[in-house]
Amino acid sequence: MKDLSANMTQMIARKNDVVAQNTAGITYLFKKNKIDTYEGLGSFVDKNTIKITKNDGSEEQITAKNVIIATGSKPTSLPFLPIDKKRIITSTEALNITEVPKHIVVIGGGVIGLELGSVYARLGTKVSVVEFMPSIIATMDAGLGKELQRVLKKALGMEFFMNHKVTGASVEGETVTVTADNSKGEQVKFEADYCIVAVGRTAYTEGLGLENIGIKTEERGNKIPVNEHLETTVPGVYAIGDVIKGAMLAHKAEDEGVYVAEHIVGQKPHINYNLIPGVVYTWPEVASVGYTEEQLKASGTKYKSGSFPFKASGRAKASMDTDGFVKVLADANTDEILGVHMIGPRAADMIAEAVVAMEFRASAEDIARICHAHPTYTEAIKEAAMAATENRAIHI
Ligand code: NAD
Repeated sequence: MKDLSANMTQMIARKNDVVAQNTAGITYLFKKNKIDTYEGLGSFVDKNTIKITKNDGSEEQITAKNVIIATGSKPTSLPFLPIDKKRIITSTEALNITEVPKHIVVIGGGVIGLELGSVYARLGTKVSVVEFMPSIIATMDAGLGKELQRVLKKALGMEFFMNHKVTGASVEGETVTVTADNSKGEQVKFEADYCIVAVGRTAYTEGLGLENIGIKTEERGNKIPVNEHLETTVPGVYAIGDVIKGAMLAHKAEDEGVYVAEHIVGQKPHINYNLIPGVVYTWPEVASVGYTEEQLKASGTKYKSGSFPFKASGRAKASMDTDGFVKVLADANTDEILGVHMIGPRAADMIAEAVVAMEFRASAEDIARICHAHPTYTEAIKEAAMAATENRAIHI
């Protein structure tokens, strides 16, 4: 098809509409559950008193027996790279660009850089990813980053500059110039319409008045220290989500919120942090749970590995989504599943099967013997589990 173009104004308006519907849904649920909402900046006066400074400058104080801090995170900036929010931007501004840029430089080949970069690449923007490490999504199983990089290059023409250390950026008119040192120590330059800085996120605690109750944040990442019950050093003050240690993921925060509520009322909740799935919403999607192959090697665990490529899946062929694979890692002696890593169509949804299986401490053979509907992408999980059990996948 020729002469296709994206209507960015309409695309952003639709995105804003979906966000508005979701936040309205939360407002409705608050009302339904009789939760009072106060709009303004909240800060601790003491451990049981919160001052709310409203937008019109007025103040109000409320008291509570327990307080849960859930203030999240904000994009990390680099000291030598001031974010002007116009040309040198973070994910926040990148969600509101109203034209299709010609060229975007993304600093950081992590989750945010790749999710946003791939959206713009799909709309026709030339996207250059400048990454400090030798691989993208470096904390996930190494096979995933390798395959994702290959597909994003092949399908969307994204360019990757690995082992590059960004040293600065400057803006002149509508052009931003990013400078970096490549692996040989030579200086390289990138000229683009926008530079998206996606080098991580930092816990958001500004204005909270933590100093008023004696909570000190960690030097690295500014996180609030908590104990095994997610309680801070101040009894009755809890913290959850991005503002504390662990993965910066909405579903992790959600589980922690439920944990604290149940703990406060005297129940005995539990979170298995090893079984919080990680997902990258590119296409193909990337999803992972449990230990990576690199972690198992480092801990000296004896494991078996079974993989199944989507190019051998009937469903993937029918829907022309044949990139990627599923990999199942299982204990060499007990066959217990230790990790499942996948890249491919609907991986974000499919990882739930692996999480359920691992939560019940299933073996690879358990999944291999469970009937999976045909034709579905989930058959790839069954086949990878069969391959891990004793190399007996049927369809490869
Ligand atoms: P990230 O930690 O995932 O990736 C940052 C990348 O930037 C790393 O690869 C790092 O090596 C690189 N980097 C750091 N300094 C650099 C430099 N000077 N030059 C070049 N590269 C540099 O961080 P992110 O992508 O910004 O995401 C932040 C957090 O938000 C993460 O914890 C992520 O898990 C979370 N998040 C998750 C999702 C999701 O689950 N889909 C979506 C959005 C955000």
